[in-house]
Amino acid sequence: MSTTTADFRAARPTAAGLAGTGGITLVCGTRPELIKLAPLMRAFGDGCAVVYTGQHYDRSLYARIRADLPPSEAFHELGVGAGRRGGQLGRTVSAVDEVLADRPGRAVVVQGDTTSALAGALAANAHDLPLVHVEAGLRSHDRAMPEEHNRVLIDHLADLCCAPTELNRGHLLAENVPDERIAVTGNTVVEALQAALPATDDRRAVLAARGLERDRFVLATIHRPENVDDAGRLAVILRELGRLPLPVVFPLHPRTAKSVEAFGLRHLLEPLVELEPQAYPAFLALAAEAAVLVSDSGGIQEEASVLKRPVVVVRRSTERPEIAGTFGTRVLPGPAIGAEVARWLDDVAGHRERLRHLPSPYGDGSASARIVTALNALLAQRAGVTAG
Ligand code: UDP
Repeated sequence: MSTTTADFRAARPTAAGLAGTGGITLVCGTRPELIKLAPLMRAFGDGCAVVYTGQHYDRSLYARIRADLPPSEAFHELGVGAGRRGGQLGRTVSAVDEVLADRPGRAVVVQGDTTSALAGALAANAHDLPLVHVEAGLRSHDRAMPEEHNRVLIDHLADLCCAPTELNRGHLLAENVPDERIAVTGNTVVEALQAALPATDDRRAVLAARGLERDRFVLATIHRPENVDDAGRLAVILRELGRLPLPVVFPLHPRTAKSVEAFGLRHLLEPLVELEPQAYPAFLALAAEAAVLVSDSGGIQEEASVLKRPVVVVRRSTERPEIAGTFGTRVLPGPAIGAEVARWLDDVAGHRERLRHLPSPYGDGSASARIVTALNALLAQRAGVTAG
């Protein structure tokens, strides 16, 4: 069931029977973490504290997401900010450590593969607190990505690895993470999306406000360092987007905006419908109605499988191969972008009908309930060991 933004804000904890989960600290610092941890914040309700590190310091990203989150009495903002990765990691560990020293709670939950997630994991470890890793076991096998190292480190520190899929579980087992530390839960992005996706009429209103028609536009997001930190590669991608036969709606990530200015590429944005980063429900409204998505985002690959939209993934590697050949195809920056989009545009209605029947590999929207159950079991086991 979809709800409006207002409904989403009003939503209260729904996880009946999840008693005893108080004192859980969620550590996060970027837009996708806030989005994907929101269902757990709702499940834990007043029993959880959120430590927002401020790794994504740009207000246009952060403020919009924060406004859509369930209210939490205990929302700590650390304001760590940007900077070199090593320094940022050190500052964040230290800042989270201070919060945990003051309010240790019963367990720490981190999500994904960011510097904030690794810092939360290290701080939990330093306090000997049980650590839960949500979205565990993803592997791109691309050692040039800092995120890949973060994932591996967090998975090996975690007492409970919540793997979205069996494939992710397999990666963990292959690295000798014991099976009893792994729970296959699905991905919380499914219920995050279900809670935030506006109803059909509201989606149409979002499109109408921008003069867009269902299935008659492409939605693109590009922000990964591999694509935007190199002037040539960024120019190739923007040129390819500018040549597509439908309007290309392009919410500009702050990192991409910086690169566009620094490399003098503003003219390449002219053929695109440039937007500010969108609030999550507004972004989902666009994504659900687009003919094709083009993106290098991790979360958008997963969301494509829930919205039943095709996604052309512009990356040299992916840690989410589950959608390959169904909802997604991966291409390198260059003419392959246009060719792949054209393939999906050959029969938009037909692809929509076909994808509608494919289940998402990321589950059915019960990941947060499964995570809470697994966490309760971990806490009960810890309590038993302490008592014994
Ligand atoms: N997103 C959003 N507004 C936008 C663009 C993206 O709310 O203008 C959402 C998107 O639906 C997804 C998440 O942001 O849930 C992806 O974040 P990002 O691309 O920053 O990170 P990644 O998923 O690559 O880690």
